[in-house]
Amino acid sequence: LADVRGELDCIVIGYNDREFDTFAREQKPLARASGAYQEVKTNSVLLHGRRLTYMDLMNHGIKLATGTDPRLSVFRTPSLGACYLTSFLRRKGHRAELVNYFSRHETDELKDRLKDGAKSVAITTTYYVDNAPIIELVKFIREHGKGTKIIVGGPHAFNLCNDYDASMQNRVLKSVGADIYVFDSQGEATLSKVVSAVVEDADLSRIPNLIYRVDGEMCRTPREVENNGLDENVIDWSVFDPKLISPTVYMRTARSCPFACSFCNYPTMAGEHVLSSVEVIIRELTDLRERGVKNVVFIDDTFNVPLPRFKKLLREMVARKLDMNWISFFRCSNADDEAFDLMKDSGCLGVFLGIESGDQTILNHMAKFARTDKYKEGITKLKERGIVTWASFIIGFPGENQETVTNTFNFIEDTGPTFFNPQLYYHDQRSPIHLQAEKFGIKGGGYSWTHNSMGWRDAATWVEKMFKDVKSSIPLTLYGFSIWSFPYLISQGISMDKIRAFGEVARDMITAGFPDAPVDLSAHEARLAAVFAPRA
Ligand code: SF4
Repeated sequence: LADVRGELDCIVIGYNDREFDTFAREQKPLARASGAYQEVKTNSVLLHGRRLTYMDLMNHGIKLATGTDPRLSVFRTPSLGACYLTSFLRRKGHRAELVNYFSRHETDELKDRLKDGAKSVAITTTYYVDNAPIIELVKFIREHGKGTKIIVGGPHAFNLCNDYDASMQNRVLKSVGADIYVFDSQGEATLSKVVSAVVEDADLSRIPNLIYRVDGEMCRTPREVENNGLDENVIDWSVFDPKLISPTVYMRTARSCPFACSFCNYPTMAGEHVLSSVEVIIRELTDLRERGVKNVVFIDDTFNVPLPRFKKLLREMVARKLDMNWISFFRCSNADDEAFDLMKDSGCLGVFLGIESGDQTILNHMAKFARTDKYKEGITKLKERGIVTWASFIIGFPGENQETVTNTFNFIEDTGPTFFNPQLYYHDQRSPIHLQAEKFGIKGGGYSWTHNSMGWRDAATWVEKMFKDVKSSIPLTLYGFSIWSFPYLISQGISMDKIRAFGEVARDMITAGFPDAPVDLSAHEARLAAVFAPRA
């Protein structure tokens, strides 16, 4: 294990697991004007005056049953972005280390690393939707680091830089309080140059893609879009403690997405769709297996596209007897019987299905290039092979009306995916559908919108109805839980049966709290404890 001690060039921080209740309280005053708080309500349970996420609730249930809080968090699984950056920096000769997990209950690792000395800290922003977790980290680093430069990059930072003009950027970035911001959707090559400059105390002005602070003023360098190869930069897992990466890691085998769903801005942001070669993926999987990894979560948005490559990869996994479990996003309209069989044989535990709507007209508006009958067939074939399905739906997309949303409701009942996630539509004004704002009569943005046939309040009522009334599937929402957490939970001794049973109780607790007023949930808590009671 090549653990670097002494003064570091860079500490890469994975995730700040901020208290969800704090976030919920910040959102509550906006409840009348936007559906953001509605999403808070469907992602958490109001219990003893605090909003708990699904994972908090699971911890609470285990504590009730055993007397011990296991502090489970899916963010303990190594952050892929942070692992990638640490490996990238090491390969460039930097003394870099990863601090994967930070929370207000667990600050020692970062504190100790900062005490040993670090020229810089890189904060990745993959999972953040607001600035608060970054600001919290910046304050902590200022308090415990001695002159450590703070660098912020990743998707949230990229969006902040992209969305605002220079003067707004200055205000927002100053309020975040870091020293240097990397403005690129990839950014690893830029980060490496910045770390070199910080170590050598050199000028930053020659490094592209930066916004940085000098004497309180923000300076900018020209944009130079990065294009880093996937195969050449595959993660060197040997730089990490085997205890950190075993038994579950995230992996990517592609960048960007070949589709152009009209609600999604990702392909525009991420650029050309690029694939790793099957040979490199198999080499990486074999290496991970030798390091004790048993579960892989592929984070590619369209893992089974193109289909021939998907099948070739699965055939290799079977032939080499890798004996790993895996989970991925999956387009079930893009598979054949051989693919479904190979998925089963190669260890597929479950898939995330971005179905989005059970109504064909809405799918067409979304430019999903998918048919509801193919979706139905796909879900059936996955279920026949014992593969867990988690289907996601957007409620309230432009064109949505009572009839189309009823079709989605019926689609979920008819197909019965193991879990489903009904999400309130979020109108991203950078997404392709915004070009049709006039046609659909779209007004507003984010979670505060109306269009010709629905508004966010009606859509929110439908989301609640789905939570309450769908009988053939269990609603689970994404915040800090999702299908990605299943391998982690299973490795912690929580079986799929327990996850299902937990989901049933969580649904009843969440729906009981929809009026957003304290309710007596003691009977529900007893059910929750029973789910996690140790077997006699
Ligand atoms: S929603 Fe998924 S499949 Fe559609 S464009 Fe975005 S990333 Fe691609």
